[in-house]
Amino acid sequence: MAYLSNPTYTRAVLEAHGFSFQKKYGQNFLIDGNVLDNIIDAAGITKDDFVLEIGPGIGTMTQRLCEEAREVVAVEIDKTLIPILDDTLSTYKNWTVINQDILKVDINKLALEKNGGKPIKVVANLPYYITTPIIMGLFESHVPLESITIMIQKEVADRMKTGPGSKEYGALSLAVQYYSNPEIICEVPPSCFMPQPKVSSTVISLRCHNNPPVECDEKLLFQIIRASFNQRRKTLLNGLSNGLHFSKEQIADAIEQCGFVPTVRGEALSLEDFAKLTNVLKQA
Ligand code: SAM
Repeated sequence: MAYLSNPTYTRAVLEAHGFSFQKKYGQNFLIDGNVLDNIIDAAGITKDDFVLEIGPGIGTMTQRLCEEAREVVAVEIDKTLIPILDDTLSTYKNWTVINQDILKVDINKLALEKNGGKPIKVVANLPYYITTPIIMGLFESHVPLESITIMIQKEVADRMKTGPGSKEYGALSLAVQYYSNPEIICEVPPSCFMPQPKVSSTVISLRCHNNPPVECDEKLLFQIIRASFNQRRKTLLNGLSNGLHFSKEQIADAIEQCGFVPTVRGEALSLEDFAKLTNVLKQA
């Protein structure tokens, strides 16, 4: 069986179907078998698993997922790729493609229908222009998730993994770490894609928590986090006074009760600190 991750085979498939890349869809197809092996290994897929793939392209990763998993559903926005997938994956029977924008798919319903509502695995070489909305959408809609194994822009992976004090630290780091345990798998240079992207990429595994690592009101926690980082250069006191429904006095009191210095900035606080502040403000 010829694997699509071979660049010669990929080029032949694209030419045979007269495919034209669409920049607006972030189409950078993977042409490196070793990187693909790393992604598949990190995802730890077994024959019991239902896998959701986002953006299958010509089916390079889908082919490997079909071999490892019980069932694969791939969601692809570009309708010109559908006949190509029918061709490249014709020998496999355990996959289906949904020709839709992933942001419009009801993934909770899909997990219920295909996996009895049990946690699913998501694997993808993501289109970089919508990485954050896709990941936040999965987390915030409380899709039952076991893990998300994805190739993303290196800079975004660094933001997901980092902690307080670094300039990459922000709302995305806190959200990802609230819902999962991020682990960097490998870095991937532009030469592993066709066409080559302008940026470096990283494979990251997000192992989803059964229960969040901190206990507090989730909605208020994320309101506080967003308000803290919306105006990065402001102190926490000023940032929260502008962005939330609490008075400046209530916020100053809460900061003091938590034992933070009055001039503290959001970027210095850990997830545990934000949870503490959330619990104090919840009582205010
Ligand atoms: N998985 C393939 C690979 O590794 O070679 C393709 C990856 S390419 C980086 C991203 C894929 O996502 C493309 O096939 C693109 O058409 C698709 N895509 C872009 N935006 C999408 C969206 N909103 N919903 C679903 N698929 C999308």
